[in-house]
Amino acid sequence: MTAKLDSVQLTRDILRLNTINPPGDEEACARQLGGILEAAGFRIRYHSFGPTRVNLLADIGTQSSKAPLCFTGHIDVVPLGAAPWKKDPFAGETDAGKLFGRGSSDMKSGVAAFTVAAVRMAPYLANTAGLTLVITAGEETGCEGAFHLQKDGVLGRAGAVVVAEPTSNYPFVGHKGAFWLRAKTKGVTAHGSMPEKGDNAIYKAARAVEKLEAFRFSNPPHGLMGQATLNVGTIQGGLNINSVPDQATIGIDIRTVPTVNHAELLKTLTQQLGSEVELETLMDLESVYTDPREPWMHSVFEVMTSILGSRPTARVATYFTDAAALNRAYSDPPTVILGPGEPQMAHQTDEYCVIERIDQAVAAYEALIRGWCLD
Ligand SMILES: [Zn+2]
Repeated sequence: MTAKLDSVQLTRDILRLNTINPPGDEEACARQLGGILEAAGFRIRYHSFGPTRVNLLADIGTQSSKAPLCFTGHIDVVPLGAAPWKKDPFAGETDAGKLFGRGSSDMKSGVAAFTVAAVRMAPYLANTAGLTLVITAGEETGCEGAFHLQKDGVLGRAGAVVVAEPTSNYPFVGHKGAFWLRAKTKGVTAHGSMPEKGDNAIYKAARAVEKLEAFRFSNPPHGLMGQATLNVGTIQGGLNINSVPDQATIGIDIRTVPTVNHAELLKTLTQQLGSEVELETLMDLESVYTDPREPWMHSVFEVMTSILGSRPTARVATYFTDAAALNRAYSDPPTVILGPGEPQMAHQTDEYCVIERIDQAVAAYEALIRGWCLD
């Protein structure tokens, strides 16, 4: 049965399982994939971090001093959005070479493709470096599942990582980091008719926002990613118009490049904003980057040159991925983002993937497994 596993059919099968996050509900999908991999000889571990929130770890081989090759993908999907869909988001309908559904591009086609490649290669991997598949829940709400795996210390080793997020099968060598902070200011409330009796937290927040707008990164820009960015996305404060506000908060979205160290950046911002501002970290995902000249990344480009029919140039993804969380446990192995979905279809109404790219991804993944385990 497993030898005949079809990547397009498997994509449709797991599309039909609603894993919209929130709430996620990834368990049925994780167990379906776990059953397929177990039948093919993989060691399976389910790792849950809440009711029906289940990550799946699957290993084969890993009997060598060389660490295994890791494939990773998430099985949760984003909500459908307010606009009506012309296609049923959970039926796996096909039309004119496209497969429609929530998660078709982001990223159940990618998970299906590496599952099929892993099952097909399984009979040859017994005494090799092997594979470790990390299938996560809760990615869309800030890499929750991946962070639980990392914190619980259950990930083991990986010598290189393939993230099957949508890239139209184009190899991306990295992505920016996301460093989300909340700045808080405090004051003393008083009646709005006697502001001199209070201490206005919004004025402090306003001074902080001005400093944040004027902030310039001192690190050198990165060759492919350019400079880091900072955006003030939210501001809240005050209870009513006739009181002096005693609290205000600012939401700061920083996208970092490999030349930025998050801990140092936090120190710098804390100093520049001064003692009237308190900073709290909401999300801390470092950037991911592998030099295209790194030997394994070079081999990925060789494989993709023959599969795509022309030599890819080094590009980076606009989104962040679970690799930022997983690579803390794996101590930053070379990492490529490479998957069959269409990046511009992620999170869209009437999301689709191009059917022929799914088998193209299977071929690419099989070649990468051969290169890692058998050459
Ligand atoms: Zn995704």
